[in-house]
Order: sequence, then structure tokens, then C-alpha cells
Amino acid sequence: MSEFQPDPAQSALVLFSGGQDSATCLAWALDRCARVETVGFDYGQRHAVEMEARIEVREGLKAVRPDWAERLGPDHVVDLTGYGRIADSALTADRAIDLDARGLPTTFVPGRNLVFLSCAAALADRRGLDVLVGGMCETDFSGYPDCRRATIDAMETALSLGLDRPVTIETPLMALTKAETWALADRLGGAPLVELILEASHTCYRGDREHRHAWGYGCGDCPACDLRAVGYQQWVAR
Ligand code: ZN
Repeated sequence: MSEFQPDPAQSALVLFSGGQDSATCLAWALDRCARVETVGFDYGQRHAVEMEARIEVREGLKAVRPDWAERLGPDHVVDLTGYGRIADSALTADRAIDLDARGLPTTFVPGRNLVFLSCAAALADRRGLDVLVGGMCETDFSGYPDCRRATIDAMETALSLGLDRPVTIETPLMALTKAETWALADRLGGAPLVELILEASHTCYRGDREHRHAWGYGCGDCPACDLRAVGYQQWVAR
């Protein structure tokens, strides 16, 4: 992973789903860049709560630090429902959350990050934004091959060639455990940011916003809830 050079003139486009990881990435980018915009992708997720969480987290971040409010620019939502129909998974269709014949989780949407990064690179080019920031992580490996840094490196190369200019994709969480991601949020925005991510960000695959746990809302037994719960418990027990 390239070493991020903090630059007050730098601008970023954050791939922002409204989950814990991308909320932390958004705070990370706001801490480093003069101008930050967000992009979300509607690929027919079963749960609209993710899209609502995006709005709540963005608004909440402005209250965490006044300088972040000044730096946070527009949000963009890209309609990828056609892609979602091609790549139907347990996130977009009514299928059990399990492992398939290849050993991949049924929540895997084939090539999702490749499509997202291509769209984000096009948007960043048009908006004049310098770097892409994504919450991909290979430490608490959820079994998604397109979250590995090797995939991201290949995308940087492909996009740089295809756009004929250097494309940088920052993945600040790539080497962090979920516990370390909470610690990063604490370093960036202290208790108010941790509280915002707990309360407003959404991770649960089942879209459960009824059950509030110490680590936030969720069903409590899907793989995403498991990761989030264990990471939070490890962080508070540090
Ligand atoms: Zn869940």
C-alpha cells in the first residue's frame, strides 16, 4: 500500500456505503484532505437502511468536527441496479447467507469492487478529485477476493492505463482488524465519532435496525454482525 502523503490541497472521493468501515474511511479522508466527496452505489440491496445510514453518518460527521463540516462536499448515488440483477447474491436476492460450492459466501457479489472502483474513478475524473478511498480489508477476511490489496493494486494499474493518468486507491483499513478500526475512529474523532459510528452506521446483512447491542444495531447472528460484535468487544477489552 502506498504511503498517504497528507496534503491540504488534496481531494478525495470516498466509496461510502454507510457501514462501519466506510464511515471510518470517510473520517480518515476528512482528516487529511481539503475536499472530500462521497459516492454510494444502489445495486438493488435488499435493505434500504444502508442508504439511510449514509445520510445519517454524513450529517453526524459534520457535528463531530467543525473543520470536517467545511471539507465535506456533495454525495453522489450511482444507480447500478442493472449490475445488481446480473450479479444477484444473498445481499440483493432472497437467498440464504451461507457458503457456495466455490467456498465463497453467498453474500459475495461477483466483481462488486471492480465495478464500484471503475464507476468511482470515472466520477472522480469528472469531479476533479485526486484519490479514491475505500474500506476494503483483507485482515478480517470475509472471503471476498475483490477486497484483497492485490486486486486493488491491479485496479490502480488498469484504471491508470485506461484513464491515461495516475489513479490512486487508498485503503486505510486494509491491514487493520475490526478492533483496530474502532481504535482508528477513536483517534480521529474521539468518543463523539465512536458514538456516531455505533449509532448510525449499518453493517447487518439482514438490515436489522430493531436490536441495539453495545456494538450497534443488527440481527446479532449474521457474519457481518459477528465481525462487528467481536471487533467491538476486543476493542473495549483492550
Ligand atoms: Zn446481522
